[in-house]
Amino acid sequence: MSAKKLAMGALAGVLMLSLAACGSGTTGSTSGSGDTIKIGIKFDQPGLGLKQGDTYTGMDVDVAKYVADKLGYSESQIEWTQAPSGQRESLIENGQVTYIVGTYSITDKRKEKVSFAGPYFIAGQDLLVRADDTSITGVDALSGKKLCSVTGSTSAQNVKDKVPDVNLQEFGTYSECVAALAAGSIDALTTDDTILAGYAAQEQYKGKLKVVGNTFSTENYGIGLKKGDTELCTKITTAITEMISDGSWQTFVTNNLGPAGFTPGAGNPPTPAACS
Ligand code: GLU
Repeated sequence: MSAKKLAMGALAGVLMLSLAACGSGTTGSTSGSGDTIKIGIKFDQPGLGLKQGDTYTGMDVDVAKYVADKLGYSESQIEWTQAPSGQRESLIENGQVTYIVGTYSITDKRKEKVSFAGPYFIAGQDLLVRADDTSITGVDALSGKKLCSVTGSTSAQNVKDKVPDVNLQEFGTYSECVAALAAGSIDALTTDDTILAGYAAQEQYKGKLKVVGNTFSTENYGIGLKKGDTELCTKITTAITEMISDGSWQTFVTNNLGPAGFTPGAGNPPTPAACS
């Protein structure tokens, strides 16, 4: 091989390497040019975001896929990433995910670190107790009770604000709280009614746990993304609006929350706010 050919080959190799590096480094891209997109969801919330082997199901998963499709990404281009409540802002800030659809309430405090498209759903905070418990009727009946919620959630913050002397244990995920509730080491789990309905309907907890049905907050679910990325926010907002108007929203709700007997409360489907 001539020196010239060798040099050409080396150049081609360098070009290919840099192209490959480019491809793997564009997780934030929304061009849909054959790249993958990293999306944060919950892995342990039946009806919302649930991982079973290689299968991902739930309303948030369906919403995430719908939005990805509108951004030009097919389902096979999605890399699902677990986004526990307390890690969502940092996952977005560090660029580990492009967006999160994970029962993620829009709050002013979170808006200091991330931006939100939405809301796409409105939920309310409630309590999950053992089926034979008649003493816990609402947030005002928690004195002396052992409560469980998740670090970094609005649920934990709300209940601490409303019941300052609450005996609250904070875990990393809600499924850990459910197991503790069923085992009797805590008396109630507090978070959104959507999430609680999913656990109460799970085969292993059927008839053993019940949702109190006395909500005490309004949770506006948004799609979290990098702060100030108005271009992405606007695209996602358009996708949410279409999802509601073309009937997909209703299908996702019926398919995923219906089996748990959950019907969305007042204000649903919401009108997404403008991106700022
Ligand atoms: N929607 C509430 C929140 O964003 C509670 C559910 C959750 O932790 O994902 O904090």
